[in-house]
Amino acid sequence: MPYPVAHFLFFIFCVSAVAVYAIVKSIFRRELSSGDLPQLLLLLFVGSLCTLFPDIMIVYNLPVNGTFEHCWIGPIATHSFLFSSTALLLGTLAGYLAYGKSGKAIYLGLFGEAAFLTHLLLDDIGEGGTEYLYPIYNGKTSIFSLMDVGFQETGFIHYVIASFVSVFFVCFVLMMALFALDKLGFEFKYRPEK
Ligand SMILES: [Zn+2]
Repeated sequence: MPYPVAHFLFFIFCVSAVAVYAIVKSIFRRELSSGDLPQLLLLLFVGSLCTLFPDIMIVYNLPVNGTFEHCWIGPIATHSFLFSSTALLLGTLAGYLAYGKSGKAIYLGLFGEAAFLTHLLLDDIGEGGTEYLYPIYNGKTSIFSLMDVGFQETGFIHYVIASFVSVFFVCFVLMMALFALDKLGFEFKYRPEK
């Protein structure tokens, strides 16, 4: 499994790279003030917590059982789409406590959800799959292995579907993070030349 620091750095500097770029640019232009710090720290806190959340059970299993088991809470797979709903809830709750508005809170929930799904993608690359589909299927499946399907073995239609599913799932996670950041103050848009 990738270590926590890799999950944290990957989400902040790869998935949220455009936000890091915007922040650094604003710092150099002296457009950021100390009043912006709470909002940025809230994003950092929710993003960090949610991207590490699938491995939460190691906090219990390492000191209590002396094992590195971290993928299950009893019968529940933590590296699954089902368990990712906890990140949506955690982020939305944190947003509601911070902003007092459910409309804006849901965007922080989506940011947390994207952070959680990023963890699954990184574990997928590192371990060859995770329990995405629990409880429909309890074994490991891999989004990235779909990219390696050859059309000579599986047929052209299967090859095209596998390519679309794998690429657009990764795209979906990135778009979710961008959409949330856009709504939380970054405001990405294309400005045509005049
Ligand atoms: Zn993990």
